[in-house]
Amino acid sequence: MRRFEMILPATVEECVKALATHGAGARTVAGGTDLLPQMKNGVVKPAVVIDLSGIAALRGVAAANGAGLRVGACATARELELNADVRKRYTALADGAALVGSVQVRNLATVGGNLCNAAPSADMAPPLMALEAEAVIASPRGERRVPLTSFFQGVRRTVLAADELLVALVVPAPAAGSGGSYIRHTPRRELDIAVVGVASQVTVQNGRCTKARIALASVAPTPVHATAAERALEGQALTPELIEKAAGLAVEAAKPISDQRGSAEFRTHLVRVLTRRTLTSALARASA
Ligand SMILES: Cc1cc2nc3c(=O)[nH]c(=O)nc-3n(C[C@H](O)[C@H](O)[C@H](O)COP(=O)(O)OP(=O)(O)OC[C@H]3O[C@@H](n4cnc5c(N)ncnc54)[C@H](O)[C@@H]3O)c2cc1C
Repeated sequence: MRRFEMILPATVEECVKALATHGAGARTVAGGTDLLPQMKNGVVKPAVVIDLSGIAALRGVAAANGAGLRVGACATARELELNADVRKRYTALADGAALVGSVQVRNLATVGGNLCNAAPSADMAPPLMALEAEAVIASPRGERRVPLTSFFQGVRRTVLAADELLVALVVPAPAAGSGGSYIRHTPRRELDIAVVGVASQVTVQNGRCTKARIALASVAPTPVHATAAERALEGQALTPELIEKAAGLAVEAAKPISDQRGSAEFRTHLVRVLTRRTLTSALARASA
């Protein structure tokens, strides 16, 4: 591995100042579970590595000001998987976090690292998109918020400029009668990445679906919303027939490739199956 300088900021302000000073030659490190293998393989060769572990403002999972949840960028997958509020009200996120790697990986892997690494297969991205999370981003110019739906720009590309840091995710509180689910398909049971992942989040009031959000992983360069399927569900009673129809419509949002892990045809089939399963599970949770 190439030698690099290490910087340990104590605050967000110090961190974005260091990012601004060192520009594209610098990389932040949170858990290091994506960055370190990339550095060892020579995929990235930062001259400066900025360690985020000393910045208290990036940690924790807590109630947001007002309503909803504030998830610090350095909250780990294990924290999210075990958090009582996440398991009760943000179930799709608990599902996604619990699938990342092994317990050892989840103790290090952060939600910020998962999103900023911007792999199409990232397991925490679809649940957060389905939950309509916003990214809180800091830079020397101040703070801005970006809906997660607009955060990803391509494989390993996000809206973050070289001097910007993801500080937190703010997730609105789901309305009464809401439920969510995330399921992925992997050829191996453990330590594998999603061939396809689907998150569904629904709200049901007086027997009708008032809101539906469906987000897909590993079927396009970025996670995507299945908007035609979402529209088909809203305003309707969620019958098995309608869920089947929405699962078929979700396929429209998928532009999968064929690779050694699955053909485009197989991925398209998985979108249909996993959309049906996650909608059925989300509906059951909404009714529980
Ligand atoms: C064995 C193994 C199994 C895995 N299994 C899965 C899996 O099942 N599902 C899955 O989704 N992923 C998996 N991963 C990938 C990885 O663990 C996750 O993506 C993890 O969440 C990355 O978080 P991190 O804190 O380790 O990121 P890091 O490696 O520290 O950082 C990743 C990237 O994000 C940037 N970054 C980190 N934090 C910030 C921030 N706050 N602001 C701006 N940029 C930031 C870094 O500069 C770097 O480019 C696995 C990895 C390993 C090694």
